[in-house]
Amino acid sequence: MLVAENLTKIQSTIQTACDKSKRDQNEVTIIGVTKYVTIERTEEAIQATIENLGENRLEGFQEKYNHFKDRVKWHFIGTLQSRKVKDVIDKVDFIHSLDRKSLAKEIDKRSARPIDCFIQVNVSGEQSKHGIALDDVESFTSSLRSYSNIRVVGLMTMAPHTDDDEVIRQTFQSLREKRDQIRNKNEPHAPCSFLSMGMSNDYGIAIEEGATHIRIGSKLVGSKTSEV
Ligand SMILES: *Cc1c(COP(=O)(O)O)cnc(C)c1O
Repeated sequence: MLVAENLTKIQSTIQTACDKSKRDQNEVTIIGVTKYVTIERTEEAIQATIENLGENRLEGFQEKYNHFKDRVKWHFIGTLQSRKVKDVIDKVDFIHSLDRKSLAKEIDKRSARPIDCFIQVNVSGEQSKHGIALDDVESFTSSLRSYSNIRVVGLMTMAPHTDDDEVIRQTFQSLREKRDQIRNKNEPHAPCSFLSMGMSNDYGIAIEEGATHIRIGSKLVGSKTSEV
């Protein structure tokens, strides 16, 4: 399938979810996750009007960034090792995976400007997942106030692997409630207005529950093994 055809379907799902939840579809940014695909396929996505790209590994990020530079906004969505911060920090527009103090410290030290960060939250408490536990997000956010190069623009999560839509919905609702709590504190370093949640299999639910940034890979550009 052409990326443009996939995008048309995705936009119609977004519209349905926005209608259901009485939201404006302009509130939802699609991040095209290109980690599975080539430069050529990524170019096709950009031609199809995708303006935001996400990569989860340093190597993939560098390859795509070096090619497309400032034609798009760049989202680093994967686990970021502290020693690799220096390699991405001048290039990223958003980091979605801030999940520990030592990483915040390194970002703060290496950057020459404030970086828009999402705090990654492990809502479900699964041991295998990265992220700050839901109960610790507020205090973690507050503890970042001394880092002048960290701006907490929102929260990010990944739903658990399950076919149970209610479990997925609960996860997204919990993240939204936490976002609201933090946003209402009006801390200058943490406007926390965004919610990065929803991937190929659950972005409709995520939008109904308030997602502002959906991260879509396989349903948009396909994956290496099967182009959707
Ligand atoms: C790969 C990835 C995605 C996109 O996954 P799809 O299910 O292919 O849409 C989204 N977010 C993160 C953090 C990822 O690593």
